[in-house]
Amino acid sequence: MRVLLIEDDALIGNGLVAALKSAGMTVDWVRDGLTAQEALRGTAYAIALLDLGLPGMDGLAVLKAARRQGVETPVLVVTARDALEDRVAGLDLGADDYLVKPFEVPELLARMRALMRRRAGRATSRLETREAALDTGTHEFSHGGRTELLPAREYALMQALMERPGHILSRAQIEERLYGWGEEVESNAVEVLIHSVRRKFGKGAILNIRGAGWMVPK
Ligand code: CA
Repeated sequence: MRVLLIEDDALIGNGLVAALKSAGMTVDWVRDGLTAQEALRGTAYAIALLDLGLPGMDGLAVLKAARRQGVETPVLVVTARDALEDRVAGLDLGADDYLVKPFEVPELLARMRALMRRRAGRATSRLETREAALDTGTHEFSHGGRTELLPAREYALMQALMERPGHILSRAQIEERLYGWGEEVESNAVEVLIHSVRRKFGKGAILNIRGAGWMVPK
């Protein structure tokens, strides 16, 4: 899952990038409003974390502009300002939830999961098909009678596939979900991940649709 972090504070930003990455997410970090606006327009992020106090262009202005331009990325406002007016303005401008600093990382991750569930119209944090299940809270994947904790990249791969069972994802779509800006992607990186998942859970865990990409059966 690819996340856009919009935060100008280096200390908070570094901490959040580390926390999100260790939770298996791909993170692009921008530090000002204008760059944030361009990033939101150019990439289909699973979620954006938006700080309100930003240099150049205020977070609320970024949100307003993005929604006006049709950007539908779920936005979680993360802000030091706990003023009621800012929270109300943020929600009215199209934010999906907010979190007031200081907060604990587990709460941020839980709110992100809740937001993703709401967007997908699901009531629980489990993604299920007839033969497989992925717990987005614990990162455990089950298929063919086996249950294992997935490493970060394998989890991100399975999350992308399990969110839309029966839908083919191309290599480019998977790479966009799994790798952030400036990350070197080996040409066979996606195959290596798929091979690893299949070795553990069996070939039926991920179907190869020749010439098109991969999918998990419904
Ligand atoms: Ca700030």
